[in-house]
Amino acid sequence: MSERPDAAAVALVDELVGDLAGTWDTSGVLPDPVLRKLGGAGLLCAQVPEVYGGPGYSSLRNGELTAHVGGRCSSLRSIQTSQGMAAWTVTRLGTERQRAAYLPRLVGGELAAVAFSEPGAGSDLSTMETRARIDGDELVLDGHKVWITGAAYADLVVVFAGYGDAGTAVMVPAGAPGVTIERVPEPLGCRAAGHANVRLDGVRVPLDSVLGGRPGQSLPLLVTIALAYGRISVAWGCAGILRACLAAATAHARGRRQFGRPLAEHQLVARHLAELFTAERVASRACADASASWDGNSPDLVTATMLAKYVSSTQAARGAATAVQVLASAGARDGHAVARAYRDAKLMEIIEGSNEMCELMLARHALSAA
Ligand SMILES: Cc1cc2nc3c(=O)[nH]c(=O)nc-3n(C[C@H](O)[C@H](O)[C@H](O)COP(=O)(O)OP(=O)(O)OC[C@H]3O[C@@H](n4cnc5c(N)ncnc54)[C@H](O)[C@@H]3O)c2cc1C
Repeated sequence: MSERPDAAAVALVDELVGDLAGTWDTSGVLPDPVLRKLGGAGLLCAQVPEVYGGPGYSSLRNGELTAHVGGRCSSLRSIQTSQGMAAWTVTRLGTERQRAAYLPRLVGGELAAVAFSEPGAGSDLSTMETRARIDGDELVLDGHKVWITGAAYADLVVVFAGYGDAGTAVMVPAGAPGVTIERVPEPLGCRAAGHANVRLDGVRVPLDSVLGGRPGQSLPLLVTIALAYGRISVAWGCAGILRACLAAATAHARGRRQFGRPLAEHQLVARHLAELFTAERVASRACADASASWDGNSPDLVTATMLAKYVSSTQAARGAATAVQVLASAGARDGHAVARAYRDAKLMEIIEGSNEMCELMLARHALSAA
């Protein structure tokens, strides 16, 4: 299978995004038709198999598509990450009947968000307070989720909750009675990604909305499965940020002259370009390695995914700062691609496992492998 997304997919992304990412960032809104069109083409969760109506991409191919979207608009890529994570969660945790029911919806234009985090449960999700209980043939949910990417646009929210001493993942319609969705005001970056807080007050869903059919699985296992997709997707998105920053910085350094020659001919500026080039290559390699583990069903998947996320997000945060440095005043305004990248990339060091959480897990791996 080719590692490149097909030309039609890339063309659709290019046509829909055009030069609008800066405008979307400033307004804080992604237009609904853009999301529905990309979603309806299956490109927000392109690994969904063809049997469920999806494009059936490999992880590598989906990764390259994710990088392409991420290079153009990190808000849109954030939606793609959430949608892909929702689809992956259904694929791994759902019954065959649930896969057949939900996946065609997720490649047909409906949008989904994934909710783990709570006011008291960020890095430590074991302190989650959202609870699920069975009442007759319904599941009842009470809790408060925060910072849920895409929740402001979502039709469905995959809610992770405690159930007795165990856990559960539940498909909740965003419009169900008892669900309240409120946008996070003025996020630092990915401003159009529809981050929202989600309140669940006695929300009732049929028991067959519980992925796997019955609640009561290991919560850490449920979360780990969903996050594996999120991490690799964010990693590829960061590779895309680096590609965009490298392109902007080299173009500017070629064209802008100071002290009688192009910026690129000043060695200290050339060093910035070398650093950006290296960052993009290193991040892309780490992502490709993680995707190869994914596609090969390798036991190294968890570590490779964590490594890719860590390498890509730290390189992107540094690389975006470098790109702003090269463009200087030319890139120092809201909505400019490198200014956006600078804010967006910083957030990638926090989500799907912060830098510190990645470092702790990678150190654990180093200790066990040595
Ligand atoms: C842009 C964005 C999008 C998001 N999207 C989603 C989403 O779609 N769904 C969702 O459920 N959540 C989402 N989140 C929430 C995100 O998952 C959390 O912000 C993240 O897990 C960190 O939790 P926290 O913010 O509560 O920080 P905390 O857990 O309070 O951590 C604060 C700092 O302390 C560090 N720290 C914590 N514990 C340790 C430790 N043991 N050792 C060393 N350092 C430690 C952290 O690394 C961090 O630097 C999003 C957040 C952002 C900013």
